[in-house]
Amino acid sequence: MAKGEGKGHRLIDLTGKRFVNWLVLSRAGTSKSGHPLWLCQCQCGSGIERTVIGDSLRNGLSKGCGCIHRQVSAQQVRLRHPDPWSEKPEYKLYQSAKFRAKRDGLPFSLDWKQIHIPTHCPVLGIELKTGDGKPTDASPTLDKLIPELGYTDDNVRVISFRANSIKRDASAEELRRVLRYVENALQPILLAA
Ligand SMILES: [Zn+2]
Repeated sequence: MAKGEGKGHRLIDLTGKRFVNWLVLSRAGTSKSGHPLWLCQCQCGSGIERTVIGDSLRNGLSKGCGCIHRQVSAQQVRLRHPDPWSEKPEYKLYQSAKFRAKRDGLPFSLDWKQIHIPTHCPVLGIELKTGDGKPTDASPTLDKLIPELGYTDDNVRVISFRANSIKRDASAEELRRVLRYVENALQPILLAA
């Protein structure tokens, strides 16, 4: 038994073993406190070699050159700072359309960068306003010209939520009838005025 390898430190050869990102290259002597040391090389691509206590390898205290910690922090940074385009109204329209397409089994091949939100609703002429997420009549929405063709670049237009609701709730024939009724009903009033 080598000096310092007392009870509880029976030498197990770790050479060639892998502990997360550490690959054990060779034995590297014994620490002052009597713990076997191993020369390890991190397999993350950094090529960094370091002497690590065998116990730290086995109990997972040491997993690599620091790369794993760096990976985790990079993920946390991404979570805290989502890509700036995810807040763009065009991208939000895209995302909710994607969700509805999947839910309703409709074709979906939109490129969110092709979505154009005009200043005014092309149907009602009202100014479109991208609000705080709560839909209003003036919110931009994606309208499918021919609903069953789904969300493709040439089958969607951005119109107001209000116009979209009216269109969605009524057929063309119903709209014509309502229009006729409203216009006829107003006639006597207009004449009386
Ligand atoms: Zn590493």
